Amino acid sequence: MAANNCRVDTLHVVPIRATKRGDERGPLSGEYDVLICGASFAGLAVARELAGSGASVMVLDRYEIGERQTSACGIPTEWLRTTGLMEAERQRFDSLLIHTPHGSKRYRLPWSFSTFDYRELCQLLWRGCDARFETAKVNGRATPRDGAIAIDTDRGVLTAPLVVDALGWRRVLASGDGYQPPDAPLSRGLEVHPDGSSEDLEIWIDRRYVPAGYGWSFPARDELRIGVGSFDPRFHVRETTELLAEDLERDRVRYQGNWIPHKLRRATDGGVFFAGDSAGHCLPLTAEGIRTALYFGIALGRELRGVVEGRQDREAAATHYAEFHDAHEWKFRWMLRVQKLVPRVPPRLLGPMIRLLGSKRFVEWSFGHYLRIAPPSPEGPSAHDQHGADKQQADAEQPLGRQRDLVEAE
Ligand SMILES: Cc1cc2nc3c(=O)[nH]c(=O)nc-3n(C[C@H](O)[C@H](O)[C@H](O)COP(=O)(O)OP(=O)(O)OC[C@H]3O[C@@H](n4cnc5c(N)ncnc54)[C@H](O)[C@@H]3O)c2cc1C
Repeated sequence: MAANNCRVDTLHVVPIRATKRGDERGPLSGEYDVLICGASFAGLAVARELAGSGASVMVLDRYEIGERQTSACGIPTEWLRTTGLMEAERQRFDSLLIHTPHGSKRYRLPWSFSTFDYRELCQLLWRGCDARFETAKVNGRATPRDGAIAIDTDRGVLTAPLVVDALGWRRVLASGDGYQPPDAPLSRGLEVHPDGSSEDLEIWIDRRYVPAGYGWSFPARDELRIGVGSFDPRFHVRETTELLAEDLERDRVRYQGNWIPHKLRRATDGGVFFAGDSAGHCLPLTAEGIRTALYFGIALGRELRGVVEGRQDREAAATHYAEFHDAHEWKFRWMLRVQKLVPRVPPRLLGPMIRLLGSKRFVEWSFGHYLRIAPPSPEGPSAHDQHGADKQQADAEQPLGRQRDLVEAE
């Protein structure tokens, strides 16, 4: 396609900064019941579950809530509905258009998929919280004080007996497991956000854009989110993200990218709880990490609520949450297997394969299973109940002890 209409603009557009600067950022200290580090999907989901518990909850992020978009913001519509976040929806899709170099195929989805506005969704989540929020960069752990966990930030040290790391793949509050790109099990993704509209949710499986991974175009009413994700962390996606935007005759503006975990990590470490990308909750193959961040964040929030309301102690909460997390390991492992398989399919077979797998029966079966990895439910996930249900399924495949070994052996 012609690239003439494209405006070459490879500079990052600096977003309007709402985050406190200079004098506004006074020293920060204090003891809280719960300290939640990270105010995106996972962190805000935890905080919302604690609303009304009477606990003193502090949420920290280096940016104001909703200030920095962290994804293309695509999610199964039902997840928006059951979490009361429909107001943030921008566009809804009942089909997915998949392109390969040897043909395209439209998959009719058994459930719809939506794009949403990041800022609005975060603000909706925050509206349901009664926590305090401060902007601060979390540096790591400080020396514990009076049995509480101490967290060092660029504004001072804060303490709490219950601490959540929802800071993303860096897992800042872990004891250090040497996870560094490009050697760690991380994918990489980059997208541009040009103005424009389209009716189609589109995916490209095309080695012209990425040898192992896919390209996407997620329309969100008056904006498109066009990007490329590579399962191989060594493959630089900037050039091909620009190529895809150019092929679609769209502007290359407003860049957003990050590393994306594709392997589970431990749910707890040294008394700290991990949720979202910090726990590797992003799904391999699709790199869908929003609903899982909400899902595990809600489950964790409920466990912590049990502690602040005196129904269990921190150790019991840690055990329940870790069991819940572990019970999902086999699902993540299956997704990773498929992720590793896709790049091995010879390109000439991709087109026929995509058409073959597009039969109504197969799409309903596979997408049904996929949604059930982290299913939407008005009651939300419950670490206790869900663990039982998942455990039965997982046990049929292999004993839980073995699953734990796998997670810890990473
Ligand atoms: C290009 C791209 C597109 C994607 N598109 C989708 C998609 O359409 N749908 C989907 O489901 N998933 C998508 N993902 C994956 C998804 O973005 C993540 O899985 C999801 O954001 C994880 O949520 P989280 O709350 O764990 O972490 P994040 O959303 O990454 O939030 C981490 C928070 O911690 C803060 N933070 C980080 N470090 C510090 C620090 N040191 N101090 C203070 N604050 C800090 C950040 O400011 C941020 O607010 C995409 C990822 C990428 C890279």
